[in-house]
Amino acid sequence: MTDQKRVPILETKNLTKYYGKSRGALDVNLQVFQGEIYGFIGPNGAGKSTTIRSILGLIHPDRGEVRLFGEEGLKNGASLRKKIGFVPSELNYYDGLTVHQLLNYSAGFYGDGGWKRIGEYSERLKLDLKRQISDLSLGNRKKVALLQALIHRPELLILDEPTSGLDPLIQSRFYEILREEQERGCTIFFSSHTLSEVERLCTRVAIIKEGKIVNISEINELRKLYLKRFRIILQRGKTISESDLKDVTELVFTKRGVEGLYSGDVRDLMKQLAGLPLEDAVLEDPSLEEIFMHYYSDTGE
Ligand code: ADP
Repeated sequence: MTDQKRVPILETKNLTKYYGKSRGALDVNLQVFQGEIYGFIGPNGAGKSTTIRSILGLIHPDRGEVRLFGEEGLKNGASLRKKIGFVPSELNYYDGLTVHQLLNYSAGFYGDGGWKRIGEYSERLKLDLKRQISDLSLGNRKKVALLQALIHRPELLILDEPTSGLDPLIQSRFYEILREEQERGCTIFFSSHTLSEVERLCTRVAIIKEGKIVNISEINELRKLYLKRFRIILQRGKTISESDLKDVTELVFTKRGVEGLYSGDVRDLMKQLAGLPLEDAVLEDPSLEEIFMHYYSDTGE
């Protein structure tokens, strides 16, 4: 039993895809185990969709291996896909239908259980089934895709930037649904360009940059990499100099204050700031691009 558990549900070996001469994904190696919520993060254009589409056999990789549920994914794709729910990053629907008609068609394959789930999830995610597909916002289109992915109680969910366009309330309800799916044993592979989103849900993440995996970490380790972007406004007439702040980089002095990146224990930053003549301060997560630039650009990883 223990050995069986150790077979990854999703595995890629040296998965590589070029579009002509330009790279899509390069030697991507991933192992996702049963019951994990696994984050796949990287900035736009990094290769997330290319990897996902190759895993699902929607495009043909130039080389490498895909194993799904321990079987050869690229050969047995059709039968394996029945056990998978997929939310693509780009959604194209036949617009001449209502949400109800579209989902009714999908649910038809899965008996009463399928409809029951649609009823429940559409309520939780506030999706109006009577609307025309053509009238839906991006967020509502994403909800339709999420429902379609969930209808058949898949064993593996592959979600490509599933939350873009969803408002924060719906996002948190969606995370709740994912946690429930995880509890019933579903494995979830979740791509995002937002580190903070992945951090809330996942135990492990792979970071992809320019087609290559640059880091695979437990989320707790990744936190240690955490940077904060800070912006402070000084009281009128007050000034500070670079030496007043420690562990900071990319300082930019503005008319009334200063902003930059801080790396280290956030409590130390708070102590430093408390000693300054501040009028206001904002702390926020830096963009992934900033994290990459800070941690990965010099090493050439
Ligand atoms: P991500 O999902 O991380 O945003 P993609 O996998 O979509 O990244 O893209 C990776 C790289 O491959 C990008 O440079 C992108 O421009 C390129 N790319 C993606 N799809 C195609 C395509 N159909 N034809 C040519 N280049 C593509």
